[in-house]
Amino acid sequence: MGRGKYRATLLIGAALLALCPTAALAGFELVALGVRGGVEQQNLSAYLIRSDQDTRWLALDAGSLLPGIRQALAKGSLPEATPQQAAPLTPEGYVFRELIAGYFISHGHLDHLAGLLLNAPEDKPRKPIYTTSDTANTLRTHYFNWKSWPNFSDSGNGTRLGTYRIYTPPLGQRFTLADTRMSGVIYPLSHEGGASAMLLIRHGEEAFAYFGDTGADAVERSRHLHAAWEALAPLVQARQLKGIMLESSYADDQPSDRLYGHLTPALLLSELARLAALSGGEEALRGLPVVVTHIKPSLQAGKDVPAEVKQQLDAGNRLGVNFIFMQQGDRLTF
Ligand SMILES: [Zn+2]
Repeated sequence: MGRGKYRATLLIGAALLALCPTAALAGFELVALGVRGGVEQQNLSAYLIRSDQDTRWLALDAGSLLPGIRQALAKGSLPEATPQQAAPLTPEGYVFRELIAGYFISHGHLDHLAGLLLNAPEDKPRKPIYTTSDTANTLRTHYFNWKSWPNFSDSGNGTRLGTYRIYTPPLGQRFTLADTRMSGVIYPLSHEGGASAMLLIRHGEEAFAYFGDTGADAVERSRHLHAAWEALAPLVQARQLKGIMLESSYADDQPSDRLYGHLTPALLLSELARLAALSGGEEALRGLPVVVTHIKPSLQAGKDVPAEVKQQLDAGNRLGVNFIFMQQGDRLTF
């Protein structure tokens, strides 16, 4: 029911395409390389996104890269990386070196960039990293410093190996994303008072919003999410927003003094309600795909946080959004 409008849009798009072969049927493809918000080092926040007119991908965070690429290959989610196409590289090497055109790093926490650091020695030189100036400082000061790790970047202390070019586009200003047909705009987020960021991706008329870790405005005493919702509301109203990726790190039983700059299902739902209010009311988000990210697994026997988060979001889903829970290696089209 909720997905009806989106399916209708797709059919109208297909009809237009049939009438006018040069018209683009814009959309996005997404592959999950890592979906957890900590604990499991093989499955940490990392996604690949591209427009349906691109061959290369932009990585959205880079917690786990090669383990996720292997899982995606095993699931048939990256069919373009055949052994013949990849030679002389392995298929996972081909995806990593050749098909990832660049990286967006939402903030400097290890569960969002450990894969980038650990895989850097094998990456192709001069790839762009897009991030905020705050996170760029974290990368240079705390990781690419020849103490934690060699300096694979193009700036900072000691010999610069130059594998990565760190770009810090001004917040709120549009820039071209690597070797793709997509552009991006970075918006700041508040993550336990520290800096995090949302990337609003555009391709033609279509848009897609990837949120890094964030707390709720009321908890963080911030206006950053409000500003993000104000930026997205016109896109919702114009039916140009194809999807949102937003975190719910904990279930609702997480004590409110131990949120550490994260959302729960109740906080996520109340934030989406603010977006709906700015977008024309309760019905405005009906059917909107919302990929739920960064759920933190528990090591307590019998506690299944991903199942609890899903149950709590579905139970409170009065807005009728389409909550999506990707597994590592899954591929989706928006
Ligand atoms: Zn974080």
